Amino acid sequence: MVGADGVRSRVRGLVAPHAVDRVETPYVALRGIVPAARLGPLDTQPFDTMPSDTQPFDTLPFGEYWGPGRLFGLVPLAGERCYWFATHRSALGPEPLDVDAVVAEAQAVFADAAPIARTTLQSAGSAAGTLATRLWVAPPMRRYVHGRYVVMGDAAHASLPNLGRGACDAILDAVTLGETLNAGGSLLAWQARRLPLTQGARVLAGRVMALALAARGQRARDTALAGVGRLARLAASTHQGPATAR
Ligand SMILES: Cc1cc2nc3c(=O)[nH]c(=O)nc-3n(C[C@H](O)[C@H](O)[C@H](O)COP(=O)(O)OP(=O)(O)OC[C@H]3O[C@@H](n4cnc5c(N)ncnc54)[C@H](O)[C@@H]3O)c2cc1C
Repeated sequence: MVGADGVRSRVRGLVAPHAVDRVETPYVALRGIVPAARLGPLDTQPFDTMPSDTQPFDTLPFGEYWGPGRLFGLVPLAGERCYWFATHRSALGPEPLDVDAVVAEAQAVFADAAPIARTTLQSAGSAAGTLATRLWVAPPMRRYVHGRYVVMGDAAHASLPNLGRGACDAILDAVTLGETLNAGGSLLAWQARRLPLTQGARVLAGRVMALALAARGQRARDTALAGVGRLARLAASTHQGPATAR
């Protein structure tokens, strides 16, 4: 029996009895898709980073923004639309969350954030198809297989979404399980292939979320990350040098 039944998995408890329940985190996520035209004219007059009329799509400040206790991201989509997400700590609940209450709380949390975050949140609301979700994770797992029971995807390793790979890993679990079994391999061989990577990603995603939403020590964090970015650019340019010469 393969349990690909998500973070609330019923099969997980058959594989690891300690892991029946999903684990609540202190974070909520807001997500939505917005036409770029709705992001302007912008209510950003105190800031000089945005023009006062509609921002051309290709100059929108796409990317991820980390602030004290808050995270915001904007991603370009086809048709001059944007996917956006915002995360902060929240005690709101229980589920289902009231979207308007989460948006109102986020608007307060992001009140002095980057203009694009504030403007996007101003355009959000239940009427605009905004999703508000409490973030849940799976408990740590030392096995994905027990007898004839197997778990994969979020059932096995639901993580905080910071690495953007939960769905990718769910697909990889399924593909590699099929490959392994078709090649005559065992369920345990598949587990050895997938468990270390996906449990590592689960832990790393939690650490990235804690780092992104750190309420203190931002200057040290940002300086360290800027250093890492410089090193990465240097490594990339060093790597490109010989390739270009060839
Ligand atoms: C805010 C947020 C942002 C994310 N961003 C990304 C991203 O950018 N990139 C990425 O790769 N991932 C992302 N993810 C993670 C991604 O959504 C999940 O990792 C992925 O959906 C897991 O797929 P799954 O099939 O394992 O589980 P699910 O998508 O939860 O699917 C499980 C399915 O099983 C069904 N089910 C449950 N119990 C039963 C039952 N008893 N009988 C029959 N059916 C049942 C459920 O109804 C559901 O349809 C994000 C998650 C969140 C919360």
